[in-house]
Amino acid sequence: MARRRRPPTRPLGRVASHFTREGTPKTPYRTEREAQSAAQLAWTLERVELNAYRCDFCHQWHIGRRFRSE
Ligand SMILES: [Zn+2]
Repeated sequence: MARRRRPPTRPLGRVASHFTREGTPKTPYRTEREAQSAAQLAWTLERVELNAYRCDFCHQWHIGRRFRSE
């Protein structure tokens, strides 16, 4: 059986949008524009499509894939 590393704490509900899958807080951006330019950079470098969204937890902006809860 393969062993998996467990994240230290599992964020719940909408707060999950503040954390990465690894359980660490995401980079906060102060404006939507900053978040969008970071998303664009990720696309340019890695061809990863990310959305900018307002975080309910810290009230700043993050980028990431959309969560099902939305
Ligand atoms: Zn946040």
